[in-house]
Amino acid sequence: MDLSKVSISLVVASCDVIRGEVVATTLYPNNFIGELPMFDFHTYYIKEESCLLNVDMENLLPSYPKHVKLSVGLHPWNVSETWQETVASIRKVASRDDVWAIGECGLDKVHGEPHPLQMEVQMAAFRAQIAIAEEVQKPMVIHCVRAFDELLMLRRELEASCKREDREPQPWVIHGFRGKPEQAKQMMTKGFFLSFGHHCNIETLRWVFTSSRPFYLETDDLHLSVRQIYEQAAHHLGVDVSRLVHLCDPRKTLFSHQNP
Ligand SMILES: [Zn+2]
Repeated sequence: MDLSKVSISLVVASCDVIRGEVVATTLYPNNFIGELPMFDFHTYYIKEESCLLNVDMENLLPSYPKHVKLSVGLHPWNVSETWQETVASIRKVASRDDVWAIGECGLDKVHGEPHPLQMEVQMAAFRAQIAIAEEVQKPMVIHCVRAFDELLMLRRELEASCKREDREPQPWVIHGFRGKPEQAKQMMTKGFFLSFGHHCNIETLRWVFTSSRPFYLETDDLHLSVRQIYEQAAHHLGVDVSRLVHLCDPRKTLFSHQNP
């Protein structure tokens, strides 16, 4: 990439459409030789590996490099009085081809010690995003801290309404899952998928691995390569990384209908 072209593209407003691609092509030229096989299920930063990049509406660019797919949502920490406006703008971009999931969104009973009224607002914002995911038929990336009963209740609600309409609800993936094996079992039997990061419970990871259900790996907000997370998981499971690359690739499961 010619550096003069890069600087021109970055300063000229009409080049907004390709800004993301120019930055990434410059930073990661190797991506464009071929897609790297590992998939980072949840990250806040564009890196070399294929990923589901979590973006909020303020930081959403018109386009991204091909190996970056997006999840757009309103995080429960950021739910404010203006949440309805934010959710309306999420609705507007939810059908974009590079938006593969809605989220991260969900419920958090710990961060900022929310009082019951704030929890009600979190719940309303989450419900509105569930409706978007159903409308555009895309999976959800869920943030859940000490609100698993509420999460299960919302899932039951969704399943009941889908049943009435004779259709399947979209899959929900709980990201950064740190619960014990019993909780993983409970959530998975209710149809949830789990994604694990650096701080996961190793016993839970082992249990999920033996369950032969798909699971995912992520860097979340860490400035790590997802390769490190794959290697850490492979070490704990006593398997080869290549086995996890196959097993933990959401392009083969959740996103199999999307164009890569
Ligand atoms: Zn989260």
